[in-house]
Amino acid sequence: MEMQKNNFRKLVQLQQYYFNGNITKSVDFRIAQLKKILAVLKANESVLDEAIYKDFRKSSFENYATELSLVYHEINLAVKNLKVWAKRQRVNTDWANTPGKSYIIAEPLGTTLVIGAWNYPYQLSLSPMVAAIAAGNTVIVKPSEISLNSSHAMAKIINDNFEPQYLHVVEGGVEETTELLKQKFDKIFYTGSTSVGKIIMKAAAVNLCPVVLELGGKSPCIVFKDASMKIAAKRIVWAKFLNGGQTCVAPDYILLEKGAKTKFVAELKRQIVAVVGEHPEESESFVRIINPRHFQRLVNLIDKEKVIVGGNYLKDDLYIAPTVMDRVSFEDEVMQEEIFGPILPIIEFDSLDWTISQIKSRPKPLALYIFGKNKKSINRILFEVSFGGGAVNDAVMHLSNSNLPFGGVGNSGMGNYHGKYGFDTFSHFKSILDKSTLLEPTIKYAPYLSWKRKLLQKLIE
Ligand code: NAD
Repeated sequence: MEMQKNNFRKLVQLQQYYFNGNITKSVDFRIAQLKKILAVLKANESVLDEAIYKDFRKSSFENYATELSLVYHEINLAVKNLKVWAKRQRVNTDWANTPGKSYIIAEPLGTTLVIGAWNYPYQLSLSPMVAAIAAGNTVIVKPSEISLNSSHAMAKIINDNFEPQYLHVVEGGVEETTELLKQKFDKIFYTGSTSVGKIIMKAAAVNLCPVVLELGGKSPCIVFKDASMKIAAKRIVWAKFLNGGQTCVAPDYILLEKGAKTKFVAELKRQIVAVVGEHPEESESFVRIINPRHFQRLVNLIDKEKVIVGGNYLKDDLYIAPTVMDRVSFEDEVMQEEIFGPILPIIEFDSLDWTISQIKSRPKPLALYIFGKNKKSINRILFEVSFGGGAVNDAVMHLSNSNLPFGGVGNSGMGNYHGKYGFDTFSHFKSILDKSTLLEPTIKYAPYLSWKRKLLQKLIE
């Protein structure tokens, strides 16, 4: 460990030294590096596919659709827009500083650390990394040790192609991350659980290092009885059972308006069969639970009495069927923690007041979804309830739009990224007043005569 401690210190010092050489600040350099990242990832797609399949049987299609394509998109967007994003931004100059110019310089922060989660091992480590590179920083990436094969693949691909002083993947778990966190970074970008988020923030506080925390929580999905049931069920089934339910923004539970159950549940059942077939355990498109610990945790949440779809599992295969539970209440075991697996509880409601107060009495969710037609009810929820982000008549898809900042609020996190927001997250906006030397009014200088005060009052207020 002592050896590792020294290695981490050296690595960070190396990156700080490299950053101070100003090479990474050149926009052309950044664009070239982004293009190189894209090229090496594309050249190694089959290696990345194989690794993630080994981790939790994620298919090549899902790996492309929910991981790599998002990273490629982030790279292409940055390459296309970086010159504009990084440009000095002119703003108006106030009367007190006239004649003069005012502008904002987006500057990189320095040496940054990205800590990824296991559920989207590529996207959650590589997208923040791309944002940090686009903004001109050096980066150390620490993927999750839980998705071990994906972590090895990223380490090999990145470390074989980039110099450690600029971009490096460090592998390891709690011990290694704890050591890394003792180093002085200029920004830490963490994705994972709320409890570990607190550890990260505490460690960062010692160095006054700013953090982005992309955390989780229970994301409600409200379905009104006037919703288009077929499309609601189709989109919810996709969003919930994607990645075996191991998605931070998956609809955690359904709040279903009374009077809609028969139709909604019939559509849910139909859509589940349409996506994974009558025997999901044989489906090549249904992802497994990441490890035995999470498998057991999830199995314990299944209340057989309340299961209306699925409920079966295969321990040796870490398989849990897409499961729907009915007649659930907020007191049930399944409602006490983020599910993070293929179990969908349904809670019925007849009063929107009650529904809103239930959500508001709990930690602010990362996402919230509303299916329905009544604009008044929809707008009321959007106005009254705080959550990271979400969708009306859809679920999960909001994160694919890079024009929307992605991040949580309260217990679901702080800060955001995607597209230009990622660039901003890894930049400092330096404000500059560039003053002319032609005039120098005496008003701000002593003696503080009464006419000066009157004039100031007039000009400022
Ligand atoms: P986790 O917190 O267990 O692990 C995430 C990272 O933290 C890993 O790299 C791990 O090595 C590191 N880590 C774990 N324990 C640590 C410790 N004691 N000290 C220092 N580092 C430590 O999270 P997870 O299980 O990988 O992810 C699940 C959670 O993450 C869920 O709550 C989910 O909702 C959330 N999540 C959020 C987002 C988002 O974008 N907001 C995305 C994915 C997952």
